[in-house]
Amino acid sequence: MRKRIVAGNWKMNLNLLQAKQLLEEIEKGNWGSEVEVFLFPSLFQLGHLQGTNQKITLGAQNFYPAEKGAFTGEVALDQLAVEGIQWVLIGHSERRQYFNETNAVLKTKLDYAIHQGSKVIFCCGEPLEIRENGSHFKFVKNQLEESLFHLNAAEMKQVVIAYEPIWAIGTGKTASTEQAEEMHAEIRSWLTEKYGHDTAESISILYGGSCNDQNAQELFACPNIDGGLIGGASLKADSFLTIINA
Ligand code: PEP
Repeated sequence: MRKRIVAGNWKMNLNLLQAKQLLEEIEKGNWGSEVEVFLFPSLFQLGHLQGTNQKITLGAQNFYPAEKGAFTGEVALDQLAVEGIQWVLIGHSERRQYFNETNAVLKTKLDYAIHQGSKVIFCCGEPLEIRENGSHFKFVKNQLEESLFHLNAAEMKQVVIAYEPIWAIGTGKTASTEQAEEMHAEIRSWLTEKYGHDTAESISILYGGSCNDQNAQELFACPNIDGGLIGGASLKADSFLTIINA
């Protein structure tokens, strides 16, 4: 059985007080063990939020792939581990776009995280012009081949994949369930080709891109969609809890 996951990416939003309040409100929700809930707050808040919460797994939006040293402004996996943080996001389109994280950079980060024993949500997804010219499968496959598919099957089990079409992120324009399921099914078929049926069936693939309390149920009902990576709608307890329950 694949893990069902709902992960909230708070990006660079919320001050510490707001983050603590929102986490407390979300924790009041009643969800069963069939879903795992993750939150990715601002890096500096992780230590403050970690102590108070039991039901939610906190992860880091970013890290630098080196043990320590002169990397001003960056955070090391060991520093996160001391706070009990095991999960990291890699490959988010905003990191690719604003911080020049190419497929090669992401491969380096991924390898570093995997070898340190971290667990990873690895994001992929195409921009609008690629969707419009019809080469979205090729584009996403290339992202995965250049950054992810060199892992062996045991290493892949440390990874959750998030498909996030860039044209749907923060735009209010969700991929249709057909578009999302079609890409998820393709990703699963590439996993099957590379790693075999059992491994492919064990890897959760999340959808992200304007997923909200109105559309989550329909998206999550698709056979290859194992949950969501949620931006805007994770900033309100009501909507995030509705998505978790979906
Ligand atoms: C995201 O940034 O990962 C995301 C999916 O954002 P939103 O839900 O706001 O589109």
